[in-house]
Amino acid sequence: MPGLDADTLQMVLSTLQKYADKKLPDSYLLELDHKDEFPRKVLKELYDPGKLGLHLVFIPEKFGGLGGGAYDIYRVSEIMAAMDLGIATGVLATFLGSDPITVGGTEEQQAHWMGRIADEGLLVAYGATEPQAGSDLAALKTRAEPVTEGDKIVGYKITGRKQWISNGGEATVYTVLALAPGGPTWFVVERGAEGFTQGKGEDKHGIRASNTAALFLEDVFVPVDRMIGGVEGQGLLQAQAVFGYTRLMVAAFGLGAGWAALKRAIRYSQQRIQAGAPLSQKQGYTHKLIVPNAARLEAARAYIEWTAARIDDGAGNLQTEGAVAKYMATEAGNKAAEDAIQALGGYGYAKEYMVEKIKRDVRITTIYEGTSEIMEWTISRDRSRRAGATRVGRDPRTRARRAAHPQPARALPARRVDRLGRDGRRVLRARGDQADDRD
Ligand SMILES: Cc1cc2nc3c(=O)[nH]c(=O)nc-3n(C[C@H](O)[C@H](O)[C@H](O)COP(=O)(O)OP(=O)(O)OC[C@H]3O[C@@H](n4cnc5c(N)ncnc54)[C@H](O)[C@@H]3O)c2cc1C
Repeated sequence: MPGLDADTLQMVLSTLQKYADKKLPDSYLLELDHKDEFPRKVLKELYDPGKLGLHLVFIPEKFGGLGGGAYDIYRVSEIMAAMDLGIATGVLATFLGSDPITVGGTEEQQAHWMGRIADEGLLVAYGATEPQAGSDLAALKTRAEPVTEGDKIVGYKITGRKQWISNGGEATVYTVLALAPGGPTWFVVERGAEGFTQGKGEDKHGIRASNTAALFLEDVFVPVDRMIGGVEGQGLLQAQAVFGYTRLMVAAFGLGAGWAALKRAIRYSQQRIQAGAPLSQKQGYTHKLIVPNAARLEAARAYIEWTAARIDDGAGNLQTEGAVAKYMATEAGNKAAEDAIQALGGYGYAKEYMVEKIKRDVRITTIYEGTSEIMEWTISRDRSRRAGATRVGRDPRTRARRAAHPQPARALPARRVDRLGRDGRRVLRARGDQADDRD
């Protein structure tokens, strides 16, 4: 079973908490929010292998990381979200950005890039979304044209635009999804490459301590060894291969931010006296604004932990379980933060009391890494398939009919994927996944 031993995990969590207590007081976080400022220094300290080295949790041991498993990533993500969801997003982006390499890279690519990210603490960005390709990534327009010498491909020229990219204006390394002749393919692009520019940071509703920017690519040349996996057309499958993990991470963001707001509401209710008694003694208050939220968040936690344990036990990527966890925990986190504002009355509506900021921050968790509607779609698709398969399998008449008239074996969907691999849309349709290819 992969993952940190209990002592190492405890050490990482307590170091992170101590750092937050010391360096990230409310006043500083409110200032970042107000100024819409990306805290470069904080990210640098979090990634500094000599200090916190937080990014090492996400990097496999063979590349110089600590090799955290899904459970460890959930625990770290929950604490980060409770600290500040904008800062947590900066860390998430590096993890997401390096995913295509960890999942699909050749051994040389993994050793080179993951080694550099571990040693140098590089900020990474994940460039999938485009102005016209959001939930439906297969609609991407960014192109990668082969550059040849004789009959040999020596590189690609990438042209297009990416939208809403976390760390977009700040990263050193970018993974960019582009349409090569063989289908959607990931490429590694470095900051400073000719023709590669970044837009200014977006002025956002929440997570204002994170940087979100558009990317512009104009005939950006990348040598062929920057094509992740060395084969065209694997991009969407590589993106899907990590959904279990990445959605669990955002689920933990919803959990961490939701509890951060709820804890503030609980503390407030114990101190605020109205009609001669603390609010915490009034059931009309606790049973409406506190208790249901605690129940929803803890139910979501149980599901996150169950999914994480299964992933760590080798049950596979668990895309649907990741979707259920994200859907439950992020919707619960949003509701808890919304109710926390109500629980603080007029004070909840003022920035100083933080719950207003948490509510704006946690809003993103039902949008990025696949919206709640896409999670619903994924869950519905996969559960209907499973229910259908079960009914047919159990129906004795069907079994008898099949025994009497055996059908020729059908090609597996994966084979169809290989055959249709020259076109990203058809790849997804073959797998019935067209709307579930989110970052
Ligand atoms: C702050 C921020 C950071 C981000 N960071 C990154 C990043 O680092 N890298 C990256 O690649 N992307 C990133 N994104 C993009 C994010 O993943 C997308 O915004 C998200 O997937 C939704 O895509 P969209 O905005 O194009 O909305 P659309 O896909 O246009 O959706 C609009 C609405 O329609 C609904 N909808 C869409 N399709 C369906 C359907 N089939 N059935 C039912 N409803 C549907 C959606 O749920 C949503 O409510 C970020 C976005 C934000 C705002």
